[in-house]
Amino acid sequence: MGAKAYQKQEVLSVKEECLICKAPLEYLETDILMECEICHKTENSKTRCVNGHYVCNDCHTQGLDTILGLCMEETSKDPIEIIERAKDQADLIWLENLNLRGQFKGDIMRYIAEKYPQLIPLYDEIYNKGKRDYWQALEAQVKQICSENDFPYLRNDLPYGRSKPGKPVIVNYFYHEEIRLNNR
Ligand SMILES: [Zn+2]
Ligand SMILES: [Zn+2]
Repeated sequence: MGAKAYQKQEVLSVKEECLICKAPLEYLETDILMECEICHKTENSKTRCVNGHYVCNDCHTQGLDTILGLCMEETSKDPIEIIERAKDQADLIWLENLNLRGQFKGDIMRYIAEKYPQLIPLYDEIYNKGKRDYWQALEAQVKQICSENDFPYLRNDLPYGRSKPGKPVIVNYFYHEEIRLNNR
């Protein structure tokens, strides 16, 4: 697999610096009203980053800061690698492709053409010609990882109940067209 061992320590240390911008935290002498960057609740606090970002206590205790931290720290574009790294921190890993429709589709295709022109043939196959090979190949890889590691695997469905530690539920949402058919 080649994925680096996940460094739990790195994520925990994020709490000593700003989750949003990495700047150091500052501790004020008196409480002032601050707005949480994650949930937008306002409350009094003495702690914020030097650029003014604040994350509330609820977001810290519910682990929302860890989830956001994982997402912002992640540089890989490979879902298998991301599953490997996130499995001890996540109960649910939701895999979803872009659901390109309407005017939004044109905007995304123009962005890809400008920034990643080498991907245009692939995007054309997937999003214009509706080919599913790419997702089917990825699904096969994901299913294998799930069976090797004993991760529950679901397709177009929500998990029920709690997952076991280190055994996140993996949800595959690669086939939007099936969801639309089912809902008719
Ligand atoms: Zn900040
Ligand atoms: Zn909050």
